[in-house]
Amino acid sequence: AKRLVIKIGTSSLLYQNTNRLNLRAIERLAFVLSDLKNQGKEVVLVSSGAIGVGMGRLGLSVRPETIPEQQAVASVGQGELLGIYEREFQHYGKSVAQMLLTRDVLVYPQSKKNVSNAFQELLKMNVIPIVNENDAVSVDELDHKTKFGDNDQLSAIVANLIDADLLIMLSDIDGFYSNNPLADPNAEMYHTVTKIDANIIQAAGGRGTQFGTGGMITKLKAAKRILNNHQTMVLANGKNPRIIYNILAGEPVGTLFT
Ligand code: ADP
Repeated sequence: AKRLVIKIGTSSLLYQNTNRLNLRAIERLAFVLSDLKNQGKEVVLVSSGAIGVGMGRLGLSVRPETIPEQQAVASVGQGELLGIYEREFQHYGKSVAQMLLTRDVLVYPQSKKNVSNAFQELLKMNVIPIVNENDAVSVDELDHKTKFGDNDQLSAIVANLIDADLLIMLSDIDGFYSNNPLADPNAEMYHTVTKIDANIIQAAGGRGTQFGTGGMITKLKAAKRILNNHQTMVLANGKNPRIIYNILAGEPVGTLFT
């Protein structure tokens, strides 16, 4: 795999059940991704966490309820988050770029072309694009519970758009289980999933924490998009980003969607 999209969830970036940033997690992620760049790989990072970081900065302990509040908080957090990435990657001599996208980017041929061109150019320039949903723009009033801040699906859209060899989705769980492991201690992890059917969808529960966003549903929707496009995705635990090395070595970690 040469061209990689790595998505990291809020749950891997914040200390559990807090809005405090796990700086070590970010530092390790920057190390691994920079090292992959040195190996000649192309890397795109899709990072959540803006709302959690914004909450921390503004001193909010409860996730805001209304969409305008969430947008405002995300805007505060996005700047801080990108600043931290910028510094961490700079440490390894790497440049990053901020890409704020909406999920309808594939729907409009002109925007699709523009975004695709921008990615190609950034990769050519050896830059690591850091993608997030443009929260202030992309709100679906009818379905904001699952759609607002859904970087899972956005990461699959980006993987489609740039024809990535692999989408690696890092979360706070080892993989996709037959049931939400928080609720069912007997749940078993799937090592390979080749089709997203009704049984699979049924196994997916909601988000794990108030800071996480989509839970498994949005990850399965992302996987479905990947499979439809004949691409590959691995869902794995992002507690230690070095797991990316294991994934690229073809070791059986996480759940492989192929
Ligand atoms: P992230 O912030 O990484 O996107 P989320 O909190 O949104 O993470 O989603 C991950 C959570 O989904 C897990 O911690 C787990 O509690 C929950 N979950 C629900 N159903 C399942 C399942 N079938 N297999 C694995 N995890 C599940």
